[in-house]
Amino acid sequence: MRAIIHFDADAFFASVEQAADRRLRGRPIAVGSLHRGIVASASYQARAYGIYTPMPVSRARRLCPDLVVVPPHFELYEQFSANIFGMAEEVTPAVERQGIDEGYLDLTGTQRCLGRDPQEVAHKLQANVKDWLKVTISQGLARNKLLSQIGSKLYKPDGLTVIPPREEDELAFLHPLPVYWLPGVGPTLARLMQSAGLTTIGQVSAMPLDWLTELAGSGAARLRDFARNRDDRPVVTTHEEALSYGHQETFDEDTTDAAFLDAKLRQLADHAFVRLRADGQQIRTVSVKLRYTDMDEHQGQMSLNEPTDVEDDVYPLLSQLLKRLWDRRVRIRMVQVRLSNVYQGFRQPDLFGVRQTRRNLAVACETIRRRHGDQALMRAHDLLLATRSH
Ligand SMILES: [Mg+2]
Repeated sequence: MRAIIHFDADAFFASVEQAADRRLRGRPIAVGSLHRGIVASASYQARAYGIYTPMPVSRARRLCPDLVVVPPHFELYEQFSANIFGMAEEVTPAVERQGIDEGYLDLTGTQRCLGRDPQEVAHKLQANVKDWLKVTISQGLARNKLLSQIGSKLYKPDGLTVIPPREEDELAFLHPLPVYWLPGVGPTLARLMQSAGLTTIGQVSAMPLDWLTELAGSGAARLRDFARNRDDRPVVTTHEEALSYGHQETFDEDTTDAAFLDAKLRQLADHAFVRLRADGQQIRTVSVKLRYTDMDEHQGQMSLNEPTDVEDDVYPLLSQLLKRLWDRRVRIRMVQVRLSNVYQGFRQPDLFGVRQTRRNLAVACETIRRRHGDQALMRAHDLLLATRSH
């Protein structure tokens, strides 16, 4: 029988700030993002004043005049994240990272081979994280990913929700929940379903598929499977590097053309960012790898101050990395761009800001290319690549 834990850190950024600075503990604090004046994370003491994410910092201050607003320290969050995953990986090697502060553990093997009770394991992990790192996680323990993930988010903070491994208990847990708990049901689809009279997961499970398809499109079958508690998605062990977006190209002919290489790195980044945005993710770190004609490799990475999902933000970094890494006068055979330190859904409303304008532009370019082909719209580096053959 499968036993899967999903864990999710509570108010992660704010909790890390409180863990790192004891003066902030027990106080209403908000982590405000650099440019936008928006609350990126609020401590539970701040949430008690009605402060949530995303909310303008100015409004949060009105709700709670004692609010302490701290700038984000992403390196610190990444260190805490690595420590939490390190503790999870001591429990079992079967850990799947989902983001900076959440992931799945498959305990099926440890239960069978070591005879360890999954519930005890969950308690132990929760206590370890709390004792050593001074942050809390919430967990769901169930037979499948769907239930464990819902369980980890349902009762926070410091919660442990155990869904007993019996079909009738699982359905009793799942079916009364509102539809937005199903993976793939965002606010728009949830509203659509609601207007069609579908409010609970139980109702979705009973819908004829063609009805559901009219509402949810091609995702309907999967949605109904989830609503019927059918989920055999495996926990896929990931390592730190695996949660990233990489693209590479090996050239037909090795090259020493710096302008070509710079353009190629940008183009590879463009492809990676299209996938990144489709997943609703942001990244903070970009890595470049160069392979010389003699197979020697050089690689390096640089980080932005805060996460982004706009390719323009990393172009200057790519150029710097190329200059720094390419220190042999030898031809290049292959280049690779990798985006890492992934943040889920960090993007925040910034309707009138420059960043939002640049993002809108990136999305518009992407849409035109998808409809009319890559040739329909070219940036300077695409044009350079189109005119030089290597
Ligand atoms: Mg979290």
